[in-house]
Amino acid sequence: MRYVLDLGGLGQLLAALRQRGFRLIGPVVADGAICYGEITSAADLPAGWTDEQDGGTYRLKRRDDGALFGYNVGPQSPKKYLFPASATLWRSHPPGTADTDDEKPFAFIGVRSCELHAIAVQDRVFLGGQHPDPLYAARRDGAFIVAVNCGQAARTCFCVSMSAGPKADAGFDLALTELTGEGGHRFLAETGTPRGEEVIADTPGAQPASPRDATAADQIIERTAAQMGRAMPAVDLRDLLYGNLEHPRWDDVAARCLTCGNCTMACPTCFCFSVEDVTDLAGRAAERNRSWDSCFTLDHSYIHGGPVRTSARSRYRQWMTHKLATWTGQFGTSGCVGCGRCITWCPAGIDITEEVAAIAADT
Ligand code: SF4
Ligand code: SF4
Repeated sequence: MRYVLDLGGLGQLLAALRQRGFRLIGPVVADGAICYGEITSAADLPAGWTDEQDGGTYRLKRRDDGALFGYNVGPQSPKKYLFPASATLWRSHPPGTADTDDEKPFAFIGVRSCELHAIAVQDRVFLGGQHPDPLYAARRDGAFIVAVNCGQAARTCFCVSMSAGPKADAGFDLALTELTGEGGHRFLAETGTPRGEEVIADTPGAQPASPRDATAADQIIERTAAQMGRAMPAVDLRDLLYGNLEHPRWDDVAARCLTCGNCTMACPTCFCFSVEDVTDLAGRAAERNRSWDSCFTLDHSYIHGGPVRTSARSRYRQWMTHKLATWTGQFGTSGCVGCGRCITWCPAGIDITEEVAAIAADT
């Protein structure tokens, strides 16, 4: 069922979610970018902002239509909350001083299709095996997702070639398409779950969508799909990468790669972490902390006396081959959803699609 909401209706929708006890997480302007942060109402959304991005560059720009979701994906994704950069796995403490965890479930607002696919990938990684990750499970459990179909693509986007966008096709409770211009500023809302139906029913401003609104929303998504700035070459990526482990292109990319790990930090599917035990000097408390790690750090491949991936060549190859090839064998899915973050946030502007194309062209 499709509905249409105006700005007031969107406010009512967010209020209905807050009333149900959700903690709202949505796009906000922070540190010169559109990031995910805690919001309380539609007034916190980045009205009239967009971004311009390409390999190694990102900047915010104003837009003149007041759109709330008129930007492409920023440096962060829901991973920031579902798999936080640092977390305490357990803590010992003297009797009577236990921590209490009364976090409310998340409602993510403005999640893009590539991000829905990334959440599905991390669900498989963290929840799909014999030993589900309790921290991820607790944060993921009950999360409500309001997706937004992209109204524009960045030069770095290639979700179409990864079958991951730009239209939200699964994994959401509600999916919005923002309409501006003729007919006024409004949102076409599609329900994805009974929970989504129930929340929209509690939004007085939601009216059944007219065929004209539905057509306008479909056209926006089609236009976005045609705007993709990049594409992953349509080759068998596993065969290509497994067959080219000694290709000279790995030396070429290693000469440009700073091994900074930015690509893995920005990536919505990368999940590597390290674990550290800490005790206080008084010996009264101890804790085990988990923090993001990266296949670009030397320590990450430290095994019994030394790191096994000592060169930039071996670390970049590990990252890309895992993402696009080995991941499929491990988790039954690609580790890349075509969001383009690793291209935008790479200080050297290294482009995963270009690296694949270079190897494919020579094979
Ligand atoms: S590919 Fe770019 S972002 Fe990734 S480690 Fe190398 S320089 Fe850093
Ligand atoms: S590898 Fe790059 S394009 Fe693919 S999901 Fe990760 S950040 Fe996005």
